[in-house]
Amino acid sequence: MGIRLGCIADDFTGATDLANNLVRAGMRVVQLIDVPSDGDRIAEQQARDADAVVIALKSRTVPAADAVDASLRALAWLTSMGAEQIYFKYCSTFDSTPVGNIGPVAEALMDALDTDFTLATPAFPDNGRTVFKGHLFVGDVLLSDSGMRHHPLTPMTDSNLVSVLGAQTRRPVGLIDHTVVAAGADAIRARIEELRAAGTGIAVVDAVSNDDLVRLGEAVAGLPVVTAGSGLAIGLPANWGFKPSAAAARLPAPGGHQAIVSGSVSVATNGQVREFLRTGRPAFSVDPLRIAAGEDVAGEALAFAEGHLADGPVLIYSTESPDTVRTVQGELGAAEAGELVEQTLARVARGLVERGVRQLVVAGGETSGAVVQALGITGLRIGPQIDPGVPWCAATLSDGETLHITLKSGNFGGPDFFSAALALLDEEAS
Ligand code: ADP
Repeated sequence: MGIRLGCIADDFTGATDLANNLVRAGMRVVQLIDVPSDGDRIAEQQARDADAVVIALKSRTVPAADAVDASLRALAWLTSMGAEQIYFKYCSTFDSTPVGNIGPVAEALMDALDTDFTLATPAFPDNGRTVFKGHLFVGDVLLSDSGMRHHPLTPMTDSNLVSVLGAQTRRPVGLIDHTVVAAGADAIRARIEELRAAGTGIAVVDAVSNDDLVRLGEAVAGLPVVTAGSGLAIGLPANWGFKPSAAAARLPAPGGHQAIVSGSVSVATNGQVREFLRTGRPAFSVDPLRIAAGEDVAGEALAFAEGHLADGPVLIYSTESPDTVRTVQGELGAAEAGELVEQTLARVARGLVERGVRQLVVAGGETSGAVVQALGITGLRIGPQIDPGVPWCAATLSDGETLHITLKSGNFGGPDFFSAALALLDEEAS
């Protein structure tokens, strides 16, 4: 049997959000990093063992034509794996430029699937994103009065999603407002038929509560494509009979050594590194200036780790206070320093796995990207959440072995995140 839901997300963290929501609603989910290349048997096998697949693209801020191209490649792969419904996931603040990318991608998916209607709702009430009368609210304020007004890449100055989307598409954009959504799935379906008959191609849908999203989810069973933030995910799995269950997040049993690689310089991670040092566990500090001077810092870190891995988790970190980081950046340049550290930590991660690490915590978004690439990971089966938004994942290595990995971006997690993460895996295993 093929996958039920095939999802295309316009960035990595958004893909993880969506994946988490689907897992919580009872689906077994695999998140893929970009569209698998031809003949990626590992990704195909992972997808076959899942109910939903989320392909993470980096298409939010690229030119619209590139976003369309990547999304269509993702669509083709998902369709080839049997996806019955397509979910185009964008940010819950509807991040896009006036010339794209949400409208053009939605239209291209509709054309490719030969369908004349879809909906759009970034609503995610649990995160304070609600849509009312087509206007998007962030917490208690309109989108256009929120910090998004000043976003460097995608400033959002209009809260009226019907007009924002209308400017991005050729198709007429309409609204399914809250009175209809509150009346239930039948009323929503009736309104969809009305709009469709009147030639509306995309309908913005109001939702101010999870109940609204559940009703909407039921109403859109069978639509070939839906477009939304990650909120709608709470309402879709039930259409295939999925119910929340711990089994959806179950991963293979963990094994091997434990390690933490941290290249994040965020405040939360600084606290987590301090806490780990306080417990007296072995830790090795990676100094960018020594890397820049040509010293084999990765080799030293691995030699250090080798002596300690058998006794429990080892931390390799470049995490420093903002002041120290600024000094280093002043000396090397911020981009240069970042690149040196990322490449070093990526080599360290690969060396750790070669030395038998099978439970790996990675801190830092950019750092995670470099590590995942160095390990050749293209897919992650989503497991239990350590903290809201941060799951354990299982990756299949090129030799077929399983690596448990968690990718913690910047400011997530409490001070004891590292030990809490590893403890959670131990618990799952017992
Ligand atoms: P976060 O956003 O949580 O800080 P990221 O990994 O996304 O984590 O980004 C941190 C960036 O800072 C990376 O490019 C990393 O290589 C770089 N970096 C890490 N440690 C240092 C350091 N000690 N000095 C300068 N740059 C660093």
